[in-house]
Amino acid sequence: MKPRCESLELRILRYLNARIDLPAKDKNHYANLKKGYEGEQKFDEWMKEFAGEGLILNDLLFETHHSLFQIDSLYVSSNIIYLFEVKNYEGDFFIEEDKWYSSSKLEIKNPMHQLKRNESLLRRLLQELKFTFQVEAYLIFINPEFQLYQTPLNLPIILPAQLNRFAEKITITSNKLKGVHTALGQKLLSLHLTESPYSRLPNYCYDQLEKGILCPVCYTFYRSLNKMALICDRCKGIERHQSAVLRSAEEFRMLFPKSQITTNQIHDWCSIIKNKKFIWKILSKNFKKEGHGKSANYIDIL
Ligand SMILES: [Zn+2]
Repeated sequence: MKPRCESLELRILRYLNARIDLPAKDKNHYANLKKGYEGEQKFDEWMKEFAGEGLILNDLLFETHHSLFQIDSLYVSSNIIYLFEVKNYEGDFFIEEDKWYSSSKLEIKNPMHQLKRNESLLRRLLQELKFTFQVEAYLIFINPEFQLYQTPLNLPIILPAQLNRFAEKITITSNKLKGVHTALGQKLLSLHLTESPYSRLPNYCYDQLEKGILCPVCYTFYRSLNKMALICDRCKGIERHQSAVLRSAEEFRMLFPKSQITTNQIHDWCSIIKNKKFIWKILSKNFKKEGHGKSANYIDIL
């Protein structure tokens, strides 16, 4: 019912990472978001295989009693709502008295706390909505290179090697869905919030950013072009000028949502394309124009 897509925060950080030297903490955050998203994609593939009739809702953000909570994935079966928190951790970890450590003995945030919090907030939300479904919450470790030692048996943790058996267990107990399940799915979708990531991003301004067009495959700058297309020196990808300019204009809008899109602006932003009239042509063909002459501003990609 709700597919997953890359978050705006991840996309913006990817662009920033290509255009400025990000501080270490933001680089780290970007790497974590990227890794997390890759894990979620792997999880989605696994889910699709067994989901059958059940409803899948991904990437949800709710607010209940002034608490925001984010859910990686919900699976609505006939009798139980499963809440999945997906982790793409890699390497060896161990648990000691409720504390989680990496193999280098570095303590990490206990992911069970987040799971428990989300589970209880989801229950409250369902109660408010007067849905009486049973909720089960699980931490799913999706990376086959993950190993957790000294795991107490009673924890709702699914390790990579257990995924298939777990899927069987879930589907065996599920029957045909009814109207109430769809109603629940729709209600939850209507309550889903979208949060602006801009306050969480590192500070950046236009002048700091390296100008040019990024290859959409490897996110390095195009350095070569011919009459027809731009050519990526790194991955050898080829892209037509128009598509590259439109993508860059979109990227500009994402990074600077309050700035106007003008021919001069996008010409400067794209940098590698020297012919300003060519930029003007592309923008006027694909955007709606507001105003005239120098102050013309392009809105909404058609
Ligand atoms: Zn490339």
